[in-house]
Amino acid sequence: MIEIKDLHKSYKMGSNSLHVLKGINFSVAEGELVSIMGSSGSGKSTLLNILGMLDEADSGTYTLDGLPIKNLNEKIAAQYRNKFLGFIFQSFNLINYKNALDNVALPLYYQGIKHKERVDIAMSYLEKVGLANWATHLPNELSGGQKQRVAIARALASNPKVLLADEPTGALDTKTSYEVMELIQGINDEGRTILVVTHEHDISLMTKRIVNLKDGVIIDDSKVEQVSAKSYV
Ligand code: ADP
Ligand code: MG
Repeated sequence: MIEIKDLHKSYKMGSNSLHVLKGINFSVAEGELVSIMGSSGSGKSTLLNILGMLDEADSGTYTLDGLPIKNLNEKIAAQYRNKFLGFIFQSFNLINYKNALDNVALPLYYQGIKHKERVDIAMSYLEKVGLANWATHLPNELSGGQKQRVAIARALASNPKVLLADEPTGALDTKTSYEVMELIQGINDEGRTILVVTHEHDISLMTKRIVNLKDGVIIDDSKVEQVSAKSYV
């Protein structure tokens, strides 16, 4: 599903340059649930943003579902992004003046799906994350865990091949974090490929494979015995 080879990325800052990713090689098969671990500043978000086509590497190759991701114009890149990728962020990134249903339906609007169908699809995903009764509520009327569930429903609504989550539990208390991980595990059990960036060891143990990043290189990449989040909530 994902294959990257010898990926490098530097940030230019004036006359200085910060080498953040120093030759990353890894691949992710369909249906995997992978965590990318590492301390703050190790390059996790940089890597995830490149995988999410929100940023480009300086060198190396990236293949997503058989397609080389390179030198795409903004329009094609946006089409690929919509078709292949769903995003979940630490800070939820919901639109504050839109209710839960409209937040979930918004990406479908950009895909040109008609209003009635958008509402039906969005509602079905709100149901899936257990928030059907909260459809007309604004984000500021929801708890952190509920906001993240809405964000997950939104990410799923366009039926992406891969979900990319950057510290999805980073703003949540422990119990709520495990509830969100239970939802993520359930989505993965249905066959969806998911990458989760985290710096929390307990969260990484709820995935099936841990990729450890340190100072821009992968220092370990191991399959793990997945801990069921359900047993903790
Ligand atoms: P992580 O997500 O693991 O905390 P990041 O990928 O966000 O790490 O950042 C890795 C390094 O790159 C850090 O030193 C950070 O300060 C730097 N960095 C991240 N984004 C930028 C940017 N847009 N411009 C300059 N430096 C950046
Ligand atoms: Mg980060």
